[in-house]
Parts: sequence; C-alpha cells; structure tokens
Amino acid sequence: MVATRRPTDESSAQRGLVLVVEDEPAIADLLRLNLRAAGYGVEVVRDGAAALRATRELRPSALILDIGLPGIDGIEVCRRLRAENDWTPVLFVTARDDEIDRILGLELGADDYVTKPFSPRELVARLGGVLRRVRRDSTGAEQLRSGRLVVDLTSHVVTVDGVEIAFTATEFDLIAHLLRRPGVVFTREQLLSEVWGYASTAGGRTVDVHVAQVRAKLGDASPIRTVRSVGYSAERAPRESPGNAGKARTLESDR
Ligand code: CA
Repeated sequence: MVATRRPTDESSAQRGLVLVVEDEPAIADLLRLNLRAAGYGVEVVRDGAAALRATRELRPSALILDIGLPGIDGIEVCRRLRAENDWTPVLFVTARDDEIDRILGLELGADDYVTKPFSPRELVARLGGVLRRVRRDSTGAEQLRSGRLVVDLTSHVVTVDGVEIAFTATEFDLIAHLLRRPGVVFTREQLLSEVWGYASTAGGRTVDVHVAQVRAKLGDASPIRTVRSVGYSAERAPRESPGNAGKARTLESDR
C-alpha cells in the first residue's frame, strides 16, 4: 500500500500532487518541469495500469491523462476510475480531434482537455482552472449525503434531519471536500492544500481545529472518521453508535 511508497517530491507539492500519465518521455519531462515550476508535486507513470494503481495509492489532486497509452488507454483509465466512484479531476491530453468527441460523448467527468501540441503554460493554466472548479463541485451532484446529513452544494446549506446547521465557509468546504470522496483518507497536508489552498508545515493543527468544530456541530451525524497518524475521511453512512464505533474504527484503520 502507500506506506512504503511516497510521491517522489511530495515536499514540494505546495499546490497538490499531480499524476502525469504519459508514455512519451520527452512530453512527460516537459510536463514535470513546468508543473514543478508552478508549485505542484509531480509523479509520472507511463501506462494505464500504472495510472490506476498510482491514483489509488497516491490520491493525487489531479490527473493529466494522455489518451494514447500502451495497454489500457486514457479514456478507459478515466472510465474505470469513475466506475469506482473516484472523481479525481482529469485533464485529458489528446492527439486527435476525434478523441475529443469520445471524451465529451462518453460523459466521463473529464474536467478539461488540451490537444497536442500544447503549450506547457496553457496546460498549467488549464490545470489551475480545473482545480479551482473542482473545489466548488467535483461530483456534478448538487447534494452530498451521509446518513441524516445533507450538504447542499447549491445553497451552501448543511442540514441534519432537515434542520439547518450554521457552518462557516471553511467548515462547509471541509465537509464537502471529504464527502465528495467518501472513504478516501486525506492527510492534513492534503486537506490544507485542497481546502485551504496552501501548504504549511505548521498547518496540521488548523485542520484538527476545524474538524473538531464540524464534529461538534454535527454531533452523532458527523461522518468524519479519524485515521490515526494519517488523517481524516468521511463515511457515506455513519454507523449507528459513533461513540463506541469511533475507537474501533480508528484501530482497525491504523497502520
Ligand atoms: Ca501517447
């Protein structure tokens, strides 16, 4: 699993980790260089199977996904991720116009695309746009639900059993971010980068404080699970007795 494998330059991933899936070394190098210069952490893989593995293990903030790959092509990679309810933002790189039609026609939840040859500057700008939009709504859903909790992305209202709970903008972004990818464990650094939009070595406490505030407001309806020494995730359906279950879940999730 992840424990033995780290992103190659995680420490520089101030704007999040980007997984580049590209079989042409020259293009991969160009992307790596430009993305790093723009403040992203970069991991490069060269085929579709490796892309699926790396997405599951590294949980990147986004994929830059070439369509023409050996083995499983980029479109199939995206289709399989979506089938697993993985909505990691995808920026496709296409070589042919007819591939654009395929991307758009299949409703894969592609977030954007660029065509080869592309300017690295434009690609980095597109990626920034994708990540900004995804922070608003990555699933296409208007509501995120977990048991009695409903997070309405349109009205920005949080309710438990239909009763509105007052959330600050940051608390709202935090709970929405976790619920968009239920079951996915986010590190404090990832949450800082993806919810707050910055990285800081001293920022873990900020995340903890906001999680505590969200939990206090939601009480038993809170879907947030602590994964000890890793971070936090949200469950699609909280267990019936969170008081007792919390401890057991923490233990079973600990590595
Ligand atoms: Ca290719």
